[in-house]
Amino acid sequence: MTKSILVTGGAGYIGSHMTRMLKADGYNVVVYDNLSRGNADAVLDTTLVEGDIRDDALLGKTLEDHGIEAVMHFAALAYVGESVTEPDMYYDNNVIGTFRLLNTMRRHHVNRFVFSSTCATYGEPDTLPITEDTRQNPINPYGHSKLMVEQILMDYAVAYQLRSIALRYFNAAGCAEDGSLGERHDPETHLLPLVLFEALRIKAGGDPADTKLCIFGDDFDTRDGTCVRDYIHVTDLCRAHIHALERLFETPEAGAEQFNLGVNRGVTVLEVIQACSRITGVDIPYKMAPRRAGDPPELVSDATKAMDILGWQPRFHDIDNSIEHAWKWFSTHVPDAVKAS
Ligand code: UDP
Repeated sequence: MTKSILVTGGAGYIGSHMTRMLKADGYNVVVYDNLSRGNADAVLDTTLVEGDIRDDALLGKTLEDHGIEAVMHFAALAYVGESVTEPDMYYDNNVIGTFRLLNTMRRHHVNRFVFSSTCATYGEPDTLPITEDTRQNPINPYGHSKLMVEQILMDYAVAYQLRSIALRYFNAAGCAEDGSLGERHDPETHLLPLVLFEALRIKAGGDPADTKLCIFGDDFDTRDGTCVRDYIHVTDLCRAHIHALERLFETPEAGAEQFNLGVNRGVTVLEVIQACSRITGVDIPYKMAPRRAGDPPELVSDATKAMDILGWQPRFHDIDNSIEHAWKWFSTHVPDAVKAS
């Protein structure tokens, strides 16, 4: 029988790609999103319930009305820098919101949960690459908020038989391969889109001297002084969620598991800009700026556990793929921020 899945945050970047993949794989999908950061049109023709995860009544009704059997939880605030200046928002939405969601699920006997966690839970690891056993010691409220939920999931597995999988994402990047579904954040703070916005601005005749693209710190202890991240293509990330979901249905015993999702490859900020220049054919200007609060110097995954246990393999190992697909999207959906500049 077709399984019904609730995707919270399904109007957001990763959630919208997830929704499309679930439907293509034959699941019934209901998106639950308060549209505070998401875009209703990214949900395409999927049922959208506009609501907040802290609205117990609406959420409970949605679980009942649609016979939901598992929840994939993407509805979260996810800007490291903002979490440092506005931690109240992060604890309210990410921790209290998820806590409310889990309790509503309990009341309605829904006990399968896929959780969007993050490599930000590791903070500044002593050794690289990062495995699931690397000590988690966040250095920003965003990472703390996600780690708190991981702890709740472990406690709820023991006490309430919740079956959960926390997926610790490294840096999600890219758009649908055919350019049909993209990435839209408001405000946009992520590196890859901002670099491509700058390429679009220059292509449209903008003055390189007016660049607003900043590299946040070039004095880190890394190969070129800029931060290193592990960029994983959004469709690979979503595919891993499908494997996780299948595992929840196949091994129903209570338990909380955690998996890293990355491609085991580190790329510096400067290397991202160089790759974008090469792929777009635009000499992308940038300027140096001070470090951004809360940024660890280097985050690179060891995702062997996800490959071994979930049977997942990323298709795209090179950031060039993510850049090419994102460029296809942004070239045809030029953001207002670029048009105005
Ligand atoms: N970054 C940057 N300039 C920007 C945006 C990001 O130098 O305008 C750097 C940021 O400091 C980090 C990396 O790019 O080292 C990735 O940042 P992003 O916000 O994309 O993802 P995060 O790693 O914070 O989740």
